[in-house]
Amino acid sequence: MSGRVYLVGAGPGDPALLTVRALELIAAADVILHDRLIPPGILDGVAAELIDVGKIGGGPQVPQEETERLLVEYGRRGGTVVRLKGGDPFVFGRGGEEALVLRAAGVPFEVVPGVTAGIAAPAYAGIPVTQRELSSAVAFVTGHEDPDKPETALDWPALAAFPGTLVFYMGVRALPRIASQLVAGGRPAEEPVAVVERGTLPGQRTLLATLADVAERAAAEGIRAPAVTLVGPVAGLGERIAWLEARPLHGRTVAVTRARAQASALAERLRALGAEVVEAPAIRVRPLDVELPALSGYDLLCVTSPNGAEHLFAHLRDARALAGVTVAAIGPGTARALRERGVEPDVVPERAVAEGLVEALADVPVRRALIARAAEGRDVLPDALRARGAEVDVVALYETLPEPLSDGAREAAAAADYLLFTSASSVRLYVAAGGSLSGPRLASIGPATSAELRSRGASPDLEADPHTPDGLVAAVLADAT
Ligand code: SAH
Repeated sequence: MSGRVYLVGAGPGDPALLTVRALELIAAADVILHDRLIPPGILDGVAAELIDVGKIGGGPQVPQEETERLLVEYGRRGGTVVRLKGGDPFVFGRGGEEALVLRAAGVPFEVVPGVTAGIAAPAYAGIPVTQRELSSAVAFVTGHEDPDKPETALDWPALAAFPGTLVFYMGVRALPRIASQLVAGGRPAEEPVAVVERGTLPGQRTLLATLADVAERAAAEGIRAPAVTLVGPVAGLGERIAWLEARPLHGRTVAVTRARAQASALAERLRALGAEVVEAPAIRVRPLDVELPALSGYDLLCVTSPNGAEHLFAHLRDARALAGVTVAAIGPGTARALRERGVEPDVVPERAVAEGLVEALADVPVRRALIARAAEGRDVLPDALRARGAEVDVVALYETLPEPLSDGAREAAAAADYLLFTSASSVRLYVAAGGSLSGPRLASIGPATSAELRSRGASPDLEADPHTPDGLVAAVLADAT
């Protein structure tokens, strides 16, 4: 029984530009034969057997005949076979050749178009490939000609005469030839050209030039593949419409050491500002098997982290136990975590540190207090409340444990522009996992985290104020711009 082969476009690089159909098929596939130029991370954790036909053991490209043979073989074996290609499978992707081979072999197939680099990379550089009054046609051209063909397969005079935008794929090395042939064919030397390198990917870079100087400038700036070269008046709009590269953290790499479960909101905020985010969690949160004391016996409940709020509610069978208890949150993040669970905290200090909470509680009468926190929390708060004559119980709801750093994460974090620490324990565990504190600018969420950095001979380059994840993002933003 034959399976079915899907010739699927994976888009130009940004994983968010995969189509819904591509995502469905990647999830459902038994086998995925993929190229090298596919969006990073999209195959992490997929169940399918993965075959990299882009290269052999990091070496040369798998010959096309071999790829086609594999497609037919797997197609005949049965199941769902995904042939995943960068961009669109039928735009300089040899998808048409593969479809013909499958048809000849009698293997059923479907084609899933993808977002092609020739449109997407310019779009991410703020360049519309057509524009009323500037360009009413667009041509996709290969800059990499078949080496088996004599001299040149491209009709340069016809391309030069084409009444619209020219988009060259695979043309970085051919830039001098592209520019000179077009000028020889009659295009003005001052015609705008854009070269978009790594379009839609975190390191996207755009060179805006003219036919006269593009080859020289691309060489000077070290532009490399993958890149598309766009020739035409619309390239001149790049300066005015640029949006991605205009984001404040574009081109900056920020490493986040927070536990994976909490890193995502912070990472999202940084990405939205244009940063490339490296997740290097050296810390993991583990709930502890504890008995929560009856809350009605307390007049004050202090929650000292968003994790504390989460785990408190995991233990709470009946929310009415909180009736009549004053609830204090250490900072806005914890307050938010409480609010999401239907509890409006009565006290939230200005400064999100234990000392701030002590101050904020100065006028709150306290007889018996319960502090819900991590096993390894500081004793500033219980000590201060006891000093005021209160009876204080501390319940450790979770502990933070070391998480090993992969070699890749360790190296990427060390090479980042910024290294973010959202707690003293993340500093401790990051260093314990072999993470380096030298190289990136060190950003600390607050005084306790900064003190931990100093105790290790490192000095924080920036400290958030307010001492919250938002404050940390704001500090990085202020430092970077
Ligand atoms: N099928 C693909 C093109 C494959 S040919 C598509 O539809 O996009 C490979 C060429 O595509 C590269 O040499 C480069 O010119 C272009 N390309 C692919 N990804 C790119 C990216 N992220 N940014 C710029 N150009 C890219």
